[in-house]
Amino acid sequence: MWGRLSISLLLALACRSRGTEPERAPVYLQPAPGAAGSAALPAAAPRPAAWHGAVGERQAQRQLMVEQQLRARDIADERVLAALATVPRHRFVPDSVRPLAYRDGPLPIPGEQTISQPYMVAAMSEAAEISAGERCLEIGTGSGYQAAVLAELCGETYSIEYLPEVAAFGRANLEALGYLERGVFLRVGDGYLGWPERAPFDAILVTAAPEQVPEPLLEQLAVGGRLVIPVGSEHEQRLEVWTRQRAGQDEGAFERRQLFGVRFVPFLGPGVQKP
Ligand code: SAH
Repeated sequence: MWGRLSISLLLALACRSRGTEPERAPVYLQPAPGAAGSAALPAAAPRPAAWHGAVGERQAQRQLMVEQQLRARDIADERVLAALATVPRHRFVPDSVRPLAYRDGPLPIPGEQTISQPYMVAAMSEAAEISAGERCLEIGTGSGYQAAVLAELCGETYSIEYLPEVAAFGRANLEALGYLERGVFLRVGDGYLGWPERAPFDAILVTAAPEQVPEPLLEQLAVGGRLVIPVGSEHEQRLEVWTRQRAGQDEGAFERRQLFGVRFVPFLGPGVQKP
């Protein structure tokens, strides 16, 4: 249905244009006093000791990851770079691959799923152009790593995982670092349907690839909201960014940009198999 719509398509193979000036952010990304949106936010719970302990671990490795894998490529958003410098990625991977947590690639997690490559997490977060205080939705909680990165960038982060075994892994990782007391909300279910009770969202990130964009996710985008999603078959996918221009579901309501070719795990569940 959506595939048949003719929509304005801007090809931007290496699109890095930003709507706003990159903002210098403190390392731990508390919303700055008076920052856009922060006034409306409830006071965030204090960081638990476990979080401080984990962030203190492997800092040098994480900083190298940020400089060599992200900034040296094309990630320029300082808030995104600070978020990836902060979140202890090694706490989101199974023990067996923990020494590889900061390498330049995806890693296996339970349920035959993967934690995305750091560059992919950063590129998707940057493409979503998130401002402090925004409401974000992730489809595919997996390890919980991208959700933790979103928690550093957004006011509230909602994340849905289809596989119960994987959801339990992601929940445990996020809970251990106190993210569930800091504006991260989790649900086990089919992300095809989105989270209508909490819509609209300013940013939606999808970390598994459907063949077509799920319509409920487009419906749940706020005006000005961005959906970042890999779209395609198991063997050929592209990262797309859909931006809602105005209310409505007609072809003119969205602008679509294609970024680069990617390879994500397939989107599961009955929703994507609908004709
Ligand atoms: N964002 C994750 C990446 C996990 S891989 C991270 O940072 O680790 C993608 C995840 O999407 C998998 O865990 C997979 O089970 C989940 N997934 C696939 N189809 C889904 C669907 N329909 N709804 C919710 N989650 C889905």
